[in-house]
Amino acid sequence: MNDAPLVHVIGAGLAGLAAALTASEAGLRVQLHEQAPRAGGRCRSFWDDKLSLLIDNGNHFVMSGNAHALGLLRRNGAGVQALIGPDEALFPFYDHANGARYTVRPGRARTPLWALQRGRSVPGAGFWDFAEGGALLGAPAEATLAQVIRRRGPLWRGFWEPMAIAALNAAPEVAQARLLTPVLTRTFLRGGAYCRPLIAREALGEAFVEPTLRALEKRGAVTRFGVRLKAIEMHNGRATALHLGDAQIALGPSDRVILAVPPARAGELLPFLTPPEDGEPILNAHFRLEEEAPHPPLAPLMGVLGAATQWIAVRGTHVSLTISAASALAELDEDILLPRLWEETRAALQLPVQLPYAAARIIREKRATFDPSPANVARRPAAKTALANLWLAGDWTDTGLPATIEGAIVSGNRAGALAAA
Ligand SMILES: Cc1cc2nc3c(=O)[nH]c(=O)nc-3n(C[C@H](O)[C@H](O)[C@H](O)COP(=O)(O)OP(=O)(O)OC[C@H]3O[C@@H](n4cnc5c(N)ncnc54)[C@H](O)[C@@H]3O)c2cc1C
Repeated sequence: MNDAPLVHVIGAGLAGLAAALTASEAGLRVQLHEQAPRAGGRCRSFWDDKLSLLIDNGNHFVMSGNAHALGLLRRNGAGVQALIGPDEALFPFYDHANGARYTVRPGRARTPLWALQRGRSVPGAGFWDFAEGGALLGAPAEATLAQVIRRRGPLWRGFWEPMAIAALNAAPEVAQARLLTPVLTRTFLRGGAYCRPLIAREALGEAFVEPTLRALEKRGAVTRFGVRLKAIEMHNGRATALHLGDAQIALGPSDRVILAVPPARAGELLPFLTPPEDGEPILNAHFRLEEEAPHPPLAPLMGVLGAATQWIAVRGTHVSLTISAASALAELDEDILLPRLWEETRAALQLPVQLPYAAARIIREKRATFDPSPANVARRPAAKTALANLWLAGDWTDTGLPATIEGAIVSGNRAGALAAA
């Protein structure tokens, strides 16, 4: 009989999945409990009858420099081929305001001199625009991106603003500047090999979620769905029992808990915690085309400026749009949104005017990420808690990274390792 210590992991989002796998790899027995009928949390895939497509709740893109995200794909057996992207770093852009098209092509060198080469960077951006980016490295914790980067030229509109919105899900006037630093140092500032944009080949679940569940099962871990953690009993600085669904599970002296639920839920379960608050919604629109776009973009992911649409992902006849920091649009009816977003898509992808879409669907994620304002970032807790046998995981814990796949997996790996230590 395996008498290794048992860890209960609560929440089967990417943080919980990474935590469970790490703890299992370290020899712990693992029970993973998830309140929803499926795993994945904010990064989940499902079959949509209206579209007749397997879709994700939202487009997610990762960069080739996201070592922990790619590491999970190697560990869970899916392999990095579960993601697709161009062989070299390239970001096609379409500017809806003036119809301009250009492609940002980071060079391979670590020193970003490529940014000054014509044809590689944001048109019109000059040396001083880029030089100002250095200020980010020493940015104080209380400064927003808009306070640190002050020039409002082409680089602002073509890089800083879309970067803040995509990576931090907030306008640069709101988001902490420092939160963007590790994103840049792990990708653009390491050279082209580290900033290839990648999306799931088929769907996120096929890459990150299902293979991890299978890897856990092979290791003897038990996963239970439809089980909500309602309360945690505590005594003498330890968690002593879990109220899981209708059952009350007493924790033995060597039993451990990893709480990998969203911040608001963690705050309800642990009264000593003041977690960060939720930020803005992210809105995704999915279109199924009658036929493939005749002029597909150079990469499966295309940036859009001057429009409501920010990023377009193209996989054959499936076209999906992302709009982050979407408070202004989140409440609008589909009847108003869809024609506008379809018009932007058609222009960006140069689709023939007469080409209709076969089906469309909008998904709004209201609690997409934590609010990345400086005051709120200061509330991110460490993985260790006041309870000696309970650790936190989740993209909102203090990883130094924004609320991303990479951040969630880093937090899960860390909590899993701490529980096993
Ligand atoms: C629309 C959208 C687009 C995004 N785009 C990107 C992107 O392009 N790139 C990127 O890197 N990141 C992106 N993200 C962010 C990324 O999805 C998240 O950072 C990541 O999925 C968070 O994982 P998590 O495990 O920390 O949290 P969650 O996914 O929220 O997992 C928490 C889990 O806990 C469960 N749970 C909650 N309460 C309980 C309870 N009481 N008992 C049991 N289980 C419970 C939940 O059901 C959930 O499954 C996006 C997010 C959204 C919503």
